[in-house]
Amino acid sequence: MSHTAFDQLCDTVREVALLRSTESTLSWDQETYMPEKALAYRAKQMAWLSGKAHALASGRMMQKLLVQAQNTRMRDPKAAANVKVMLHDYERAVKIPNKLVMEESSATSMAKHAWMEARKKSDFNIFAPHLEKLLSYARRRTELWGYADEPYDALLENYERGTRTREVAALFAKLKPDLVKTARIAVERGKSVKPNLLRGHYPIAKQQQLNAEIAASIGFDFGAGRIDTTAHPFCTTLGPRDVRLTTRYDEKDFTSSLFGVLHETGHGLYELGLPEADFGLPSATACSLGIHESQSRLWENHVGRSRSFWEKWLPRATELFPHLKKISLEDFLAVITRSEYSFIRVESDEATYDLHILLRFSLERRMVSGDLATKDVPEAWNAEFKDLFGISPPDDAHGCLQDIHWSMGGLGYFATYTLGNLNAAQLYQTACKQTNIRKAVDQADYAPLLSWLREKVHVHGSVMLPGELIAQATGKPTDARHYLKHLKDRFVK
Ligand SMILES: [Zn+2]
Repeated sequence: MSHTAFDQLCDTVREVALLRSTESTLSWDQETYMPEKALAYRAKQMAWLSGKAHALASGRMMQKLLVQAQNTRMRDPKAAANVKVMLHDYERAVKIPNKLVMEESSATSMAKHAWMEARKKSDFNIFAPHLEKLLSYARRRTELWGYADEPYDALLENYERGTRTREVAALFAKLKPDLVKTARIAVERGKSVKPNLLRGHYPIAKQQQLNAEIAASIGFDFGAGRIDTTAHPFCTTLGPRDVRLTTRYDEKDFTSSLFGVLHETGHGLYELGLPEADFGLPSATACSLGIHESQSRLWENHVGRSRSFWEKWLPRATELFPHLKKISLEDFLAVITRSEYSFIRVESDEATYDLHILLRFSLERRMVSGDLATKDVPEAWNAEFKDLFGISPPDDAHGCLQDIHWSMGGLGYFATYTLGNLNAAQLYQTACKQTNIRKAVDQADYAPLLSWLREKVHVHGSVMLPGELIAQATGKPTDARHYLKHLKDRFVK
């Protein structure tokens, strides 16, 4: 393949990135500042951009350039790796007929609507026919894409390239008994910690000040990003030097926004660490959701809930919120690592979070394979919940209707949250084996840790599979041991 032909291929892929990042910019605006009455036209703008991007990404030109690339020996390994991922993405995109995409899109809008009503009324019957329909589309996709062992593999591939369902199931099976035990101990211990110890008045402007100081101190570049306010926090990338984080504020408890910001900053640091010059190419695209989540969890939990972090930051927080003076560092740490069982995943803490994921992964796998009929989902949910948590949800709103994912057709996604936790622990423990990183972390100086993550994770984009990336960075594939050690150190010792 001539150099020019590869350049042409990259130009086309970059053009897709121009369209998609423009769409992201409009979407960010919609979530943050857009006036309500702009909604109808905004929807048209975004649909138009999305159509253009899809047409270009799956069009004849792309196919022609990729065929040329496939038939050429490339000397530059990065170029070859880029082409391999581009081909993977293209082949998956063209296997799905436009008709299916459009049918699915309108089914999803209706499902989302029905889900909201069902959750409000806590009535699964309202959502069930929609879920059944979305499942049938998901199953059709698995047939069109093809799979190695079981249909769920094809869905997981969307989020965690190259990862098999049976590998995840084996990891989760190994984790389960220890997770259940650790959660029980942590919850028991949590009963002796007053949950409302930090309750007070925390003016938003001061919370914003502290959030910004902390985000900047761990390496977030405010010359290339912002933090704004939304109902549901997220991180989005609008360009190679433009990463937007969002958060929400609780004036009675500053830690809820702060830990949200630490989490999103972790995602943001990853995005800003991708090679700027390759923006839009696989070599500058995040590797997978599980790797992305490893970055957010690392900063939120391993760094943000550690003693050395708060040795530095509690005095500063007390300057901004003087009533914290009466709280000792010990008590503060006990509150931010306090555990209790929650029926709701998004409100759950570090010690219990993964139990929610294990449940969803197991159910989804059975739903997709057809082992579990849609009508039986609530009962199966409650039974698995009881098995893991020892308690039963009072109703479906607190059970199988709580997550938005299924209503958006997002099947195959949940496992990446726990993979993120496993990878976060493995990366953090590996990095801290280096004396200079360990010493700096003990002083709440995270520059050496960030450099290590940049070099081992960020800079590679998605040219490696997530499993390969972790093996290269830590010397072994994703292993449950590190995460279990972390949970034991924090909640059992
Ligand atoms: Zn996240």
